[in-house]
Amino acid sequence: MAEPTYEITGAVERFDERDTVFAREALVPGSANEKIYHETNPHLRDIDLRLGRFITDKLDRSGPTWGRTYYQTVFGALAHLAMPGCVDGQPSPGRMDLTPARAARMVKSLARYLGADVAGVGPLKPEWVYSHRGARPFFKTEEPNLPLFEGMPETYTGRLYGDVIELTHRHAVAMGFAQNLDILKAGPSEVSDLEVGRVYAKSALVACQVAAFIRSLGYAARAHHVRSYCVLAVPVAVDAGLGELARSGHLLHKICGLNLRLSCVTTDLPLEHDAPVDIGVQEFCERCVKCARTCPAGAIPDGRKTVVRGVRKWQMDAEKCLMYWSRVGAACLVCQLVCPWTKAPSLLHNTVAHFASKAPWAAGALVLADDLFFGRTYKRRSKPDWMGG
Ligand code: SF4
Ligand code: SF4
Repeated sequence: MAEPTYEITGAVERFDERDTVFAREALVPGSANEKIYHETNPHLRDIDLRLGRFITDKLDRSGPTWGRTYYQTVFGALAHLAMPGCVDGQPSPGRMDLTPARAARMVKSLARYLGADVAGVGPLKPEWVYSHRGARPFFKTEEPNLPLFEGMPETYTGRLYGDVIELTHRHAVAMGFAQNLDILKAGPSEVSDLEVGRVYAKSALVACQVAAFIRSLGYAARAHHVRSYCVLAVPVAVDAGLGELARSGHLLHKICGLNLRLSCVTTDLPLEHDAPVDIGVQEFCERCVKCARTCPAGAIPDGRKTVVRGVRKWQMDAEKCLMYWSRVGAACLVCQLVCPWTKAPSLLHNTVAHFASKAPWAAGALVLADDLFFGRTYKRRSKPDWMGG
């Protein structure tokens, strides 16, 4: 069996979701959670308060702006898909008897039918499960809301900030959803935020639907999406054979490049696993630093990999990245868009991507060609006429 191309150097420490920049930016100044977190991490207090401006501006109720309008359009509704009864639930009584090979084929085909552009199955390694809950929403009650939500499922963990996350599922269905590159190139702006949120919403809905399908077969299953991750989506996707971990910190898929939003479903339904892939990304990224030299925040390393919690990888600086988002008022996607692998599928692109995966030593020439045809720097385009902003 092939091995994933990330390099484990020792014991891998589980990551605490409270340490992600998205959990830290959401800490309400003066709240009990904020005080406790910054008593333990006093060096992060000032930066976290500045990070928080990105999200507080989106939630500001002082009047409509296109940024807030588009954010609420896609991310507002999406929050409801984080309800415990959407992401999790009790399996149906009795179990459908399926071979792991047939079950994997069915689940991946269903995911694609429902809207995933790519889907794969791999093991759920305990090291990719967050140790504690850190991101909203949190749930205090077990209010019944029949027929959609019958209270807190027994299997649901991580209801409140700081709760320990226990997830014993052994398999993961990883899914990737491509964004419209033409609209993304009108960013960073409220317009690109709309597209990011549109695709995240689709990825969340499909994850909830696939999890519901598996539970209806009689097996435990939990959806993980942008509003309710209990796992690190990128290494889970790497283990499921969707691509490799790239310099920018994203999953790099052979055809879609960095243009995928990820969600997944973890389950105890026995599933045949896909093999992890080696498409030459480690060597290619070693020679190509286009994302690092183009990142407006200087958040992507242009040097060698370092060891982070037991994994040797390029470690992007999430604080610098989010501070830049805060400055421009929208999610930045420059690294994803300039990557030579990120193109809409076409015969030419697919052929070049195939060649690059077999000949990563040719990265220098391929990046030069990419610079010539698509630009050495990122150039923002105008948005479609019908859009506000
Ligand atoms: S999203 Fe933008 S700021 Fe963040 S790492 Fe990518 S290019 Fe840099
Ligand atoms: S831009 Fe280059 S270095 Fe960055 S992820 Fe893409 S291939 Fe790797």
